[in-house]
Amino acid sequence: MSCQTVLTKSVNPKLPRGKIFPLFIPFAGCPHTCIFCAQESQTGRGKMNAATAVAQAKKDFPIFLEQCRSGLIDMAFYGGTFTAVNEDDFRLCLDFFKDCRKLAEQCGKTLLGRCSTRPDSLYPNRLEKLKNAGFDLIELGIQSFDGSVLSKSARGYDAETAETACRTVQDSGFLLGMQLMAGLPLQTEEIFLKDARKALLQNPACLRYYPCLVPEGTGLASLMRRGEYAPWSNEMCIKTIGTALALAWERGIPVIRLCVAPEQEFDKNLAAGPRSPGLGSDIMAYALFLTIKQSIAAMPSVQKIVLDASWQGCLFGTKNFLKEEYAALIPLRNIVLAKANPFEIRIF
Ligand code: SF4
Repeated sequence: MSCQTVLTKSVNPKLPRGKIFPLFIPFAGCPHTCIFCAQESQTGRGKMNAATAVAQAKKDFPIFLEQCRSGLIDMAFYGGTFTAVNEDDFRLCLDFFKDCRKLAEQCGKTLLGRCSTRPDSLYPNRLEKLKNAGFDLIELGIQSFDGSVLSKSARGYDAETAETACRTVQDSGFLLGMQLMAGLPLQTEEIFLKDARKALLQNPACLRYYPCLVPEGTGLASLMRRGEYAPWSNEMCIKTIGTALALAWERGIPVIRLCVAPEQEFDKNLAAGPRSPGLGSDIMAYALFLTIKQSIAAMPSVQKIVLDASWQGCLFGTKNFLKEEYAALIPLRNIVLAKANPFEIRIF
C-alpha cells in the first residue's frame, strides 16, 4: 500500500544570511548596565573598547575572508548599544566596515552589516549613516513588551517605546531582528508567550529567545538574594520557549538563537538560572513535538510521520522526556527518520 503525503509542515526556517564575522564591543553606548547583563564574560572578550575591537578585527578579517567559502558575509557589531556609541567610535566602526566591504568585493564576495541596539537609542542620523554604509539588519534588544517587567528589570524604556522602535527600524528600511528574554523579574510564562506573540506580529526577519540567567555581580543576583527574584527552571524554559518557537515556525520566522552561547568564564560566573548543555536542543525538540501534535490533531488518521535524520539526536529530548508523549500520539515505529528536507515534516 503506498502512502500519500497528507500534510507538509515547515519547521526551523533559517535566515538567509552569510557567515557571521562578529565584532563585540562590550557595553559600548549602553546608558547603564542592565540588571541581567554581564557582556564582558558573556562574550569572552573581557574589557574591550571600540579601538581595540577594530584593531583586532583588522587583523582577523582578511584571514576570515580568505577562509570563508560563502559568497555572503555578515559583519555583526554586537555587545552593546551600537547606535549610541560615541561619535568617534561610530565613525571608526563604519569606516572599518566600508573598508571591509571593498575588500570583500575585490574577492567577489558581498559583505552585509548588522548591529544590535536598544529600542530607546534609534537616532535618525545614526540610522541614516548605517543605511548609507550598507547595513541592512538591526537587532533590537526588546527583552519584553510588558511594562511591569521592563520596569522591574530597570531597562529604562517602556512598552510603547519597544513597540515604536520595531516600526522605526522597519520604516527606516532595515530588516528587524528582535531579542526576547524569558524569565525576567515579574515575567510569568503567560507574559513571555504574550511577548512572543507580539514580537511575531511585528513581522521580524529573525528572533532570538534567551532564557534569563543570573550572572554573579549583577543587579539580578542581588534581587535574587533579597528573595525578590527566582529564575525559571530548565523545564519552564523548555515548555515556554518551545511553545514560542513553534509559534515562530508556524509564521515562518527564523529563531536564530535559543540560549547564550557556552562561554567558560561566563558559565563559571553564573549564580543561578536555567543552563544545561542540552537546553537549546530540548527547546527545539519540544517545539517539534508541539508542531507535530497540533498538525495531527485535526487529521482523521495518521499512518506515518517522516522527518529528516538530522532530528535523530534530539527528537525525544534529554533522557527521552518526550518519548511517552509521542507514544501517546502515534506508535513510535511510525515515526520515520530518513534523508529528507530538514525544514519540513511530512505526515502521511
Ligand atoms: S543595553 Fe544590552 S548590552 Fe547594554 S547593558 Fe543592557 S543588556 Fe547589556
